[in-house]
Amino acid sequence: MCIRDSVSDTGADTRTVHVDLGARSYDILVGGGLVARAGQEIAARLPGIRAAIVTDANVAPLHLDRLSAALDEAGIGHVPIVLPAGETTKSFDHLMQLVDALLGARLERGDAVIALGGGVIGDLSGFAAGIVRRGMRFVQLPTSLLAQVDSSVGGKTGINSPRGKNLIGVFHQPALVLADTDILSTLSRREFAAGYAEVVKYGLIDRPDFFEWLEANHAAIFAGGPARVEAVARCCEAKAAVVADDEREDGNRALLNLGHTFGHALESAVRYDPERLVHGEGVAIGMALAHRFSHRLGLIDGQDVTRVERHLQAVGLPTRIDAIPGPALDVDTLMDRIAQDKKVSRGQLTFILTRGIGQSFIAQDVVPDDVLSLIHISEPTRR
Ligand code: NAD
Repeated sequence: MCIRDSVSDTGADTRTVHVDLGARSYDILVGGGLVARAGQEIAARLPGIRAAIVTDANVAPLHLDRLSAALDEAGIGHVPIVLPAGETTKSFDHLMQLVDALLGARLERGDAVIALGGGVIGDLSGFAAGIVRRGMRFVQLPTSLLAQVDSSVGGKTGINSPRGKNLIGVFHQPALVLADTDILSTLSRREFAAGYAEVVKYGLIDRPDFFEWLEANHAAIFAGGPARVEAVARCCEAKAAVVADDEREDGNRALLNLGHTFGHALESAVRYDPERLVHGEGVAIGMALAHRFSHRLGLIDGQDVTRVERHLQAVGLPTRIDAIPGPALDVDTLMDRIAQDKKVSRGQLTFILTRGIGQSFIAQDVVPDDVLSLIHISEPTRR
């Protein structure tokens, strides 16, 4: 993995992060104006392809025409496929609809599925690309901050099951990721903040300097400009390093799940209702809980917990379960969802815990009763 700077034809600075996976290696381009250049960037790497642009009903009216024009300019024939927005689109029903549309468009294995959207569209389209004709080419144009810094990189694709999140899917690496940081300007502040939770995650896993940089620069990142490009590129670099080291999550890639066991359980407990909780907000609460849990186990200072919670709160992210609007969540339901998580083995839970800011580690022997008592103690209104 390496990172390079270049200046595009439009004059905008573009950073290139290379994901080193042997024959499955690819570039992530990060910068402004990349949608307008998408046709030429794709044609340079995947000459002669046709494509389907998969997007959602929120993103389509904002960005589909520009991408379509950029593909036309490069002579890439394409069809648009517009799906409903929201987490519930990551379902078998929508997968079938998408697969049918790809086959109906007579796309071949050498052609490409281009995901223009957030993590939902990226995960679903990547899964479809992975299984149609035993694996079509796949390009990601992530449009949410979360998708730019996390879900578009690394090749995890899939859908949800009524039994839990992301339980059905395949690893299928993209051929190219174009993270156009200008596209984030149409994202709501709430969704931007939710994606920012994943940005903070990289600092908390193993980059304490990055966390400190975020504490000083979060306002500039929210405002846009060079700090935003820098933040996205540094996150992609961090994720690329982890993925290159452990593509299929046999080891350290699990560190990327910091905050996610709690977060997924919370999302599932509110039935993926975005009015109540979106993914990144669940991760923010989950990261705060992971730090409080580590403190309870005597692993970290209370000051570290406060610092993490303060930073998340400074950008408007929730840090407690009782910040979720609507009816109180039942602790038993929550524990049931935690036990359904993919990270359970022989009754013991795998959690990402920490010995300090930027010192996370994989704990494979977490006792469910300890988690239960943490939730009771730290969320007194839920007793
Ligand atoms: P999302 O795709 O639902 O997007 C959030 C909302 O923002 C949607 O309403 C969408 O229509 C809208 N949106 C997206 N881009 C926009 C833009 N530029 N302007 C205006 N609106 C825009 O959700 P998300 O937060 O991007 O991703 C969450 C999903 O990602 C979850 O399903 C999660 O499981 C998955 N995920 C996957 C990985 C992975 O490695 N594959 C990693 C992290 C998260």
